[in-house]
Amino acid sequence: MLIADRVLKLSESATIAVGAKAGALKAAGKDVISFGMGEPDFVTPEPIRRAAIVGLEKGLTHYAPTPGDKASREAIAEKLRRENHIACKAEHISVTAGAKHALYMTLQCLLDDAKGQEVVLPTPAWVSYRPLIEVAGGVCVEVPSTVDSGFKITPEALDRAITPRTVGVIINTPSNPCGVAYSSTEIEAFARVLARHSHVTIIADEIYEKLLYPEIEPGLQQRSLASFPELAERTITINGLSKAFAMTGWRVGYVCAPGENGRFAKELIKLQGQMTNGIATFIMPAIVEALTNGAGDVEAMRKVFARRAKLIHERLTAIPRFRCVRPNGAFYSFPDISECLGRTTPAGRTIETAQQFAEALLDEALVAVVPGEDFGACARTHVRFSFACADENIERGVGRVAEWVAKLR
Ligand code: PLP
Repeated sequence: MLIADRVLKLSESATIAVGAKAGALKAAGKDVISFGMGEPDFVTPEPIRRAAIVGLEKGLTHYAPTPGDKASREAIAEKLRRENHIACKAEHISVTAGAKHALYMTLQCLLDDAKGQEVVLPTPAWVSYRPLIEVAGGVCVEVPSTVDSGFKITPEALDRAITPRTVGVIINTPSNPCGVAYSSTEIEAFARVLARHSHVTIIADEIYEKLLYPEIEPGLQQRSLASFPELAERTITINGLSKAFAMTGWRVGYVCAPGENGRFAKELIKLQGQMTNGIATFIMPAIVEALTNGAGDVEAMRKVFARRAKLIHERLTAIPRFRCVRPNGAFYSFPDISECLGRTTPAGRTIETAQQFAEALLDEALVAVVPGEDFGACARTHVRFSFACADENIERGVGRVAEWVAKLR
């Protein structure tokens, strides 16, 4: 059977692969502690679940309009105007099957095959950006950062990465896998650079915007690139309910593209209409419920994540062979494990790469982490810990890692 090259060339998501292996070991009765999956351990708040149940009971079982019903698009536009200061209307919004679907379609609409168009990506970055750029025919240009730079790139580095071939720039703050958010002042500096490159479309992935920890970095708050008037026409904002509302399994994301009277949004909705249509109709009232009344539940979960961010950072920095940046957003820590490479594990395996480190750690200490290779070239000596898990898991799991790492020879 023939399979297209662009699919054969796609890599499998490293995060999903680790989750699958850890799941198989758990199913075989092993006491695996997982820091693998990037999803809240909470169940979706009850009023949001109830809204979907009521929707089903009312018979909301027919096709919804492709970009979502009027009420959910209006609730999203209202949220973006109120909280993010983005000038937009309901018709600039499309509700998608997760933020990943929104990003997929955005890149498909932006990039032409085989034209060598570049998309600039600060790294370490979420594993799916590069495959999504490449499957749309683009070239991913990484702008690296390190533990020493606090996983932040400078405005000058961003400026240097933009060329006449650049079509898009992706900014994801707070970041997966770095667990780091840029400050308002740093975002302003990026905005000044981006304002000078009027040929570039900005893709702002704000999926972790609610998970910011001013208790760790006082004054930290989200600043949306689309709120800068000089960028508003060419910034596409991606967001969704997965992370903030503990709704990963619902598959609710959205895209907001107000530029040129919603021209990009119209084209994207045309693509969506040939692809998936709208998401499940009975979920629409749950979107409205979440965005209208869900703030209290989001804040309660955020406080728990802030506590866990402090806890995991304390425990990971106590491991002498790890170098960490203190997380101030999202739910990830991304230590540099270079000091562990080139060594032999207690079971006698030599570990040369983060992938081998993660495999040996899972087999020998029953702890699942995600190896850094797929997060960018500068991430190859890192592993990702997701701290969207119970405090007890953090204590026991990082304890096991510390013991195992201490035995590397
Ligand atoms: N963007 C980033 C940075 C993510 O980390 C993720 C999920 O891990 C997504 C987008 C996709 O989220 P969704 O579950 O809404 O598709």
